[in-house]
Amino acid sequence: MGTAETPAAAARSELGASFGGELIGPDDATYDEARALFNAMIDKRPALIARCASPADVAAVIGFARSHDLPLAVRGGGHNGGGLGSVDDGVVADLSLLNSVSVDAGTRTVRVGGGATWGEVDTATHPHGLAVPCGVISTTGVGGLTLGGGIGHLTRAYGLTIDNLLSARVALADGQQVTASADENAELFWAVRGGGGNFGVVTEFTFQGQPVTDVVGGPTFWAIEETEQLLKAYRDYLPTLPRNVTGFFCFHTIPPGPPFPEPIHLRKVCGIVWCIQGSDEEAEAAMAPMLAVAEPLMHGAGRVPLPGLNSAFDGLYGPGDQWYWRADFANEIPDEAIAANEEWNSKMPTWKSGSHIYPIDGAAHDVANDATPWAYRDTQYSQVIIGVDPDPAGASALRDWAVGYWDAVHPYSAGGAYVNFMMDEGQERVEATYRGNYVRLAQAKATYDPGNLFHVNQNIKPAA
Ligand SMILES: Cc1cc2nc3c(=O)[nH]c(=O)nc-3n(C[C@H](O)[C@H](O)[C@H](O)COP(=O)(O)OP(=O)(O)OC[C@H]3O[C@@H](n4cnc5c(N)ncnc54)[C@H](O)[C@@H]3O)c2cc1C
Repeated sequence: MGTAETPAAAARSELGASFGGELIGPDDATYDEARALFNAMIDKRPALIARCASPADVAAVIGFARSHDLPLAVRGGGHNGGGLGSVDDGVVADLSLLNSVSVDAGTRTVRVGGGATWGEVDTATHPHGLAVPCGVISTTGVGGLTLGGGIGHLTRAYGLTIDNLLSARVALADGQQVTASADENAELFWAVRGGGGNFGVVTEFTFQGQPVTDVVGGPTFWAIEETEQLLKAYRDYLPTLPRNVTGFFCFHTIPPGPPFPEPIHLRKVCGIVWCIQGSDEEAEAAMAPMLAVAEPLMHGAGRVPLPGLNSAFDGLYGPGDQWYWRADFANEIPDEAIAANEEWNSKMPTWKSGSHIYPIDGAAHDVANDATPWAYRDTQYSQVIIGVDPDPAGASALRDWAVGYWDAVHPYSAGGAYVNFMMDEGQERVEATYRGNYVRLAQAKATYDPGNLFHVNQNIKPAA
């Protein structure tokens, strides 16, 4: 790269015709669209966005960033709260073209490109009567969600997303492309199941599909003033339920439009978003004790194809909003925490803001804390607090609310947070998420990425 040459120009001449994807620089008409992240609070200006069309393209971009000593970010679905799918003045390896999904119905295995979204996975697996456990918004990337762990509607039944990962094809910092599985590069396979994008770029995931087609799912909402009795009932009742029944607890404001009934528009609520595999009768029986605690404002659970439940909230949470996240794991929800949750949700800054308390039990507890980097298997809940609004002028109000709320509930937490629900919160929080597994992760990092090329993530520093 000559002194006056931009990284985009250098990439065009050096990667040239052998690069099958697209190279986008700041002077290109598509630059602003290509650099935009899901969280519009984060505004980064990379020097080069390389949309890779093949694993060979990924390896070429890794080599380009390394040889030019440019910071490298890897973009899967672009949903990361802290904007870790991009980097200022560096190179973005954008995987969005690597989005193919293929299903082997015989072995019930699903091969997924490293840049696919969960909606694309659902579309491919559902006709085969299969599902891969994923998150609750279908536009989220498979890459980031899986590499951080993956919590969702099927966690109680089938574990975290990583518990369903059979193997990964990984492009390493030195340009090698390897398979990581229980039989091949087992330490790398251990590390990528929760250690984020620290070890390389996953160009393909192979998952075990699970036999889920339709479920009884959707929300039940109660007035926020009912929080105390509902959350007390929930914390006692949910752990007693079989694994085919789940529901995460939530705080929201009823959106001001259909399909929500007009009389409750903009009412602050607490609720449960159900996902029950079984007959309608089983589902009704499972939900009945919670419905008996207090009269709901809205009971919207019904039979739905799983992809319908996984995408039910996509429209409410589209790209381009301002997001501010805070999170924690919790072993229990004491009465004081219930009071703090009610207090802070009574003063949500915007109608899109809220909080979710996801159960982490059932199949997620079948795996030991050190069997993968995901070190909170013994916890009961993963809570996330989200301040969300389209208006950039409201950004500081979102942040102040989320941080104030988190300060109020953090004393009742287990210490660390789910890595995928964190913003850029410093090294201490990264280490807190991995607990005793951090040392082993740092050793794996020293093996696979000693120069810390992959550092635009919740970063694990290579062991000395
Ligand atoms: C609306 C919304 C809903 C969400 N719901 C859930 C949920 O239900 N459950 C849950 O567990 N999480 C959920 N999340 C959090 C989500 O898991 C994280 O934001 C995750 O980082 C998103 O992954 P991504 O690929 O879209 O993000 P990106 O911003 O593209 O990437 C995130 C990180 O992963 C790395 N990365 C991505 N793909 C690869 C790859 N193929 N190889 C190597 N590194 C890669 C990136 O470098 C970056 O560090 C949600 C997020 C949003 C915005």
